[in-house]
Amino acid sequence: MPTDFSEEALVEAISRSLKIRDFTYRIEKKSLDARKKENIHWVVKTAVTSPELKGGEEPVQTLLEIPFRKRDKRIVAVGTGPAGFFGAYALQKAGFQVTLLERGKDVTARKLDIETFEKTGSFVSDSNYAFGEGGAGTFSDGKLTSRTKKISAEKDFILRTYIEAGAPEEIAYMTHPHLGSDNLLKITARLREMFTSAGGEILFDCRAEDITLEGRRVKAVNTSRGTLDADYVFFATGHSSFETYRFLIRKGVVYRNKNFAIGSRVEHRQELINEAQWGCTSLRGVKAAEYRLTDSPRDGLPVYSFCMCPGGKIVPAAPYGDVNIVNGMSLYNRDSPFANAAIVAGINLEKHLGRELDPLESLEWLEELERSFFRGDYRAPASTIGDFLSGKSGSSLGESSYPPGLNPADLSTMLPSPVSDAMKRGLLDFSRKLKGFDQGNIMGLESKTSAAIQVLRDRDGLAEGFENLYICGEGSGYAGGIISSAADGLRGALSIISRHG
Ligand SMILES: Cc1cc2nc3c(=O)[nH]c(=O)nc-3n(C[C@H](O)[C@H](O)[C@H](O)COP(=O)(O)OP(=O)(O)OC[C@H]3O[C@@H](n4cnc5c(N)ncnc54)[C@H](O)[C@@H]3O)c2cc1C
Repeated sequence: MPTDFSEEALVEAISRSLKIRDFTYRIEKKSLDARKKENIHWVVKTAVTSPELKGGEEPVQTLLEIPFRKRDKRIVAVGTGPAGFFGAYALQKAGFQVTLLERGKDVTARKLDIETFEKTGSFVSDSNYAFGEGGAGTFSDGKLTSRTKKISAEKDFILRTYIEAGAPEEIAYMTHPHLGSDNLLKITARLREMFTSAGGEILFDCRAEDITLEGRRVKAVNTSRGTLDADYVFFATGHSSFETYRFLIRKGVVYRNKNFAIGSRVEHRQELINEAQWGCTSLRGVKAAEYRLTDSPRDGLPVYSFCMCPGGKIVPAAPYGDVNIVNGMSLYNRDSPFANAAIVAGINLEKHLGRELDPLESLEWLEELERSFFRGDYRAPASTIGDFLSGKSGSSLGESSYPPGLNPADLSTMLPSPVSDAMKRGLLDFSRKLKGFDQGNIMGLESKTSAAIQVLRDRDGLAEGFENLYICGEGSGYAGGIISSAADGLRGALSIISRHG
């Protein structure tokens, strides 16, 4: 279909190709084919039902359903991000008594804190881009893609739940679905209502600070608002909550190091990206052009673009007041004049430092790097990509979407040199692949593409050596992104449900 096709045109196309007049249809898949700039079009796959068509029953979809049965077990779940929420929601639906803790505020209060932070630089602990209701991805592009194909039943459950909470139906069929922050704020509030109206309890401003053990069982979660006894404990605290990692490790939870990626964000005029991808600055019926770039040479660190936000904004995403990191978000319409993405290099910290590391040392190394980007305020150290590549300085940075503003700096002296060397090589490669890519800015530290450490647990999240402690989501080191973290949380919940028939 043409990029700006109407519903009538799609009906007409179905009618023409199947030679039928009486039918209903639903879209199963919609993806943009932009391989040939002179013929960019949507590929739309539809399922059609009609008495004029012979044979064939409608395919039966096996849906993940969660049967309710009153159960007397008490669950304390920690963290209202996608993993914690979907874990808690599934357990509540199954009939457990679930209390969900969140160190931050509800999404409305959190939004106000973030707005004040961006205007004044006044950072609010526990209520920022990393912490608060909905988790790290609430103020994001809300991309709902996931690279793993193993979670289709969970993904379908998650998308259906999002749609029930007000997400546009297209997320069920777009190949690159996204919600945008504006939708995410409404959906997060509605999900909370769905959870509490099913009997779930949610406590805000409630930080888990320790656990009480009885042999191999966690007996209680000690929080900033008192002690909560539990039959099962479900931690989904994300990968920014370093003090949570620390108390869990102190209590015998075993973690190991894993590979992760660090780098910076690049920003371009969206029109430049549109022109490079489409051969024109706008295309009716398509919001803004995306890109995904990789450079994996035989020698040297792999470099890739990550979490590209078309028509978006770069945001100050510090979880703690004394660190400075960046991330990206957008609204549903993706209509800001800027495009941004992380450009990161994959790193094995033990190889990089040439010695074995305790997981706690890895966290310290990362924290130190994040602190080194904080120079008294939240402006992002930045240069043009051209200057970064040539080692020069002083070119005008021009406009940026980043609210706290930019601070001219040579990022190659701030990032570990193997990382900045690899990024230079990658950026040269990307400039050959996408015309004009070297004309943007590069800024800040991107250190949150995935967790730096990984818990030892089974595939459902049960921590090694414990009978009732589940550790799920991005902080576990086994998931990354909204959908995969939500699916990991859901799987943990299904495991607890199956232990009770
Ligand atoms: C700005 C930004 C943009 C992003 N964009 C996208 C995107 O477009 N698409 C995508 O797939 N992913 C995106 N991500 C990544 C995505 O948000 C995460 O992968 C996902 O949120 C991880 O889910 P989670 O539930 O495991 O952890 P989190 O979402 O991090 O949730 C953890 C929750 O636990 C709470 N918490 C932490 N410690 C404690 C404690 N001790 N006690 C009580 N509560 C605690 C936190 O406040 C938080 O609410 C983005 C992230 C950011 C920061």
